[in-house]
Amino acid sequence: MGLVVILLFFGLAGGVVGRLKGSSFVVWFLISACIPVIGLLAAVCYRWDNQELRRQCPGCGRVVKLHDAVCVRCGYELEFPEVAIASEVDVRQRRAAASG
Ligand SMILES: [Zn+2]
Repeated sequence: MGLVVILLFFGLAGGVVGRLKGSSFVVWFLISACIPVIGLLAAVCYRWDNQELRRQCPGCGRVVKLHDAVCVRCGYELEFPEVAIASEVDVRQRRAAASG
């Protein structure tokens, strides 16, 4: 019984960390619950998805991460762009600054 509680705890912690970083709560919950300590560490070390610069796919117009080499929607091969779109966090901060 104690083990289940520990796994749940790690799962929740990993899920929250993953969610904060703009990733999936469920995915990181499962990873952290299956491999408790390592999963949580992986969530902590995982890149901040919502702080990544973005750009638009010239093939289908989808906004993808700057470091993506291939568009996940249409499979268009993406070269490193000259212009990037601000990250989600940047946009949010700028919006908050403009309104406040
Ligand atoms: Zn595309």
